Amino acid sequence: MAEEDQDELPSGRLPPWCNADELTEIQGDSIEVAIAEHSVGTAALGAVCAAAFERIGAALPDYQMRDAQVQMAQQILRSFYRERNAVIEAATGVGKSFAYVVASLAYNYLTGERVLIATETKALQWQLFEKDLPFIRRALDPDLRFELCLGSANYFCRLRYEQMINEGSFRDLIEEDKLAEVRAWAGEVMTDFARSGSRFEDTPKIPESVWRLVTRDSDGCPANRCPHYGNCNYYRERKKWSDAQLLVANHHLLLFHLLNDKHTLPEYGAVVIDEAHGLIRTGYSIFTASFARNDFADLKKGIDKLLISHTGIQGELKQEIEEVTAACLTRWETFFSRWEVETDMVFQNSGTALIRANIADTPEINAPLIELAERYDSLKTEDTEASLLGTINAQLKQIRKMAAFAGMYSKFDSQGIVYWAEKRDDRFLLQACRLNLGETLADLMPELRLYTSATIGYWPFADFPSRKSDLIQRGFFNRFLGDALPLAEEGSVDCNIFFSPFNYREHAALYAPEHLLIPEHGSPPHVQAEYFDRLAEEIAALTSVSGGGALVLFTSNYNLQQIAERLVTMTDLEVISQLEDGVQDSLARFRRNKEAILLGSQSFWQGIDVAGDGLRLLIITKLLFTPPDDPIFKARSEILEAKGKRPFFDLSLPHASTMLRQAFGRLIRTERDKGVIALLDSRIWQKTYGKTLIANLPRVQVLRTFAELERANDKFGLLKYSQD
Ligand code: SF4
Repeated sequence: MAEEDQDELPSGRLPPWCNADELTEIQGDSIEVAIAEHSVGTAALGAVCAAAFERIGAALPDYQMRDAQVQMAQQILRSFYRERNAVIEAATGVGKSFAYVVASLAYNYLTGERVLIATETKALQWQLFEKDLPFIRRALDPDLRFELCLGSANYFCRLRYEQMINEGSFRDLIEEDKLAEVRAWAGEVMTDFARSGSRFEDTPKIPESVWRLVTRDSDGCPANRCPHYGNCNYYRERKKWSDAQLLVANHHLLLFHLLNDKHTLPEYGAVVIDEAHGLIRTGYSIFTASFARNDFADLKKGIDKLLISHTGIQGELKQEIEEVTAACLTRWETFFSRWEVETDMVFQNSGTALIRANIADTPEINAPLIELAERYDSLKTEDTEASLLGTINAQLKQIRKMAAFAGMYSKFDSQGIVYWAEKRDDRFLLQACRLNLGETLADLMPELRLYTSATIGYWPFADFPSRKSDLIQRGFFNRFLGDALPLAEEGSVDCNIFFSPFNYREHAALYAPEHLLIPEHGSPPHVQAEYFDRLAEEIAALTSVSGGGALVLFTSNYNLQQIAERLVTMTDLEVISQLEDGVQDSLARFRRNKEAILLGSQSFWQGIDVAGDGLRLLIITKLLFTPPDDPIFKARSEILEAKGKRPFFDLSLPHASTMLRQAFGRLIRTERDKGVIALLDSRIWQKTYGKTLIANLPRVQVLRTFAELERANDKFGLLKYSQD
């Protein structure tokens, strides 16, 4: 590090779980001086992590020190300390959360830099905040300061709550007794400053529509112009974030922060992105701008209401706003009508229509929307009262978003933006998404990043080398690096793999029969019906061997429904359907009954955790490929084709592999778990890519017949369960 930069570093200090004399001996020089000079050596960095895990072992009676976990922490700390990015695949059982938490905390102590951890799922975010970090605090550092960061729409907003009560907008949405619960909760979070006021903290069960009325609206919040700003739950939480050593956020919030001028989160020196295989997907959903034909009419109603109810808004400005709003409405609706006619033929059987070229005679709406935004902005004065200011801000942001969206259409950059139309619940929508996500993120992300997941890599061949150096050198991480770090120079990222310590050979088997043929797309109804009959029979036979404890994964709600109807007539076991009970309730029912069959669609493929013998049979009815009519997938495929690549092998297959590996990960959660994964899609044998998909799975026995399955079950007790 250059000498002149050293003063700018926040000061580092010895981590509280370390012994200075021991580290000095390892360093061969004073450890305090090395920390001050940012010159701690590799051996001393390794010792810092090892000492942390020894303390953790002493504090946790069942804890078994795992080499892979310690090595992973050491690798992360080394990379961060040397100012390098890292990409690490850590299989289930390595204990990656503790590994990156220990490394992050050590890095924070040694450099003074805050570290932000971002997960894809709220479940993992919550587990880190509620379970893992409190434990680390007890074991390593009683003064550790960490905070949970949620998007602002998750926090109680007093201004909006009072508006809802005063205007009575809760009527028709909520019963009196539920409203009383909301009042009681609001009373508590307004007065008890220890409460964050977040939706995840002991809150009443109320409809989503009511939550939206009492939580912060980022577009409308007037911040320090609000009378409740001083005691605002959200801003109080944000102050705490600025004082924390570690922050626990999620991908959505991190990406929102990065793509919106970095105003939301406090500064941090390094970021850990867990469940990183989902980052790009979340990124594209945030990058997508989407509007419906009636959105401007809805906005106009709000503008009209504001102009009528606030008598202070008068004269020329009021008249100008009314005129420009009316002009925008006409153009907006004509714009949507033109596109609806233009895309009508393209929809055919699909709900989406890719737009490949602009149409000549669409009205210009970008300029009038910008004009409206300028007029609207001048409604705000020094004296504007807070609730009015909030409404103006919210409407102004919506106008600006519409103008930005219209701008994407008027410049029509078919190389850099994908455009499509969608019909959803009788609504016609136009959408646009920029395709330079990887480059944008590379530009906005902090210098130091760790990307980690149990399924971050992809091996594109049918043979799987056992040496990890072969895997890394021959491109195990290439696909992820291309997506997430497209500008990284070769060799500039530390890549590593930590294999699972689980004994998959004896604890799990892949049953993949060859006889179930999936009908071709567009097959006649009777062919499809026969397929569903056979599939239901196979599921009934498998679940009778396992006695339930089965999660059955589908690629569509339609297929799930077809099997649900048939299966209830074929088994006495309890059949739980996600379509009837929703994700959380169906999962809770499944956890209560070890002899149940749970039918789940795409939200069950990842992030579901049922440890122990409650889940011993995982049935995958069909491989999960990205739907070919997905517009972003199509556009990215075309870009790959233009570069001479094969989109199926470079995009579609890696995604299917990740989803298969994620689903597999639901089955074996601890070293004691056992079970069978039944893959009822015979393409795994018919297609050449089947071997690649199997090569990417953990090393398990592969069984092709029911008889083989029964023998393996007898020998290893894969489907056994206890009755308690
Ligand atoms: S400052 Fe914003 S979030 Fe806080 S109470 Fe006021 S309007 Fe709501």
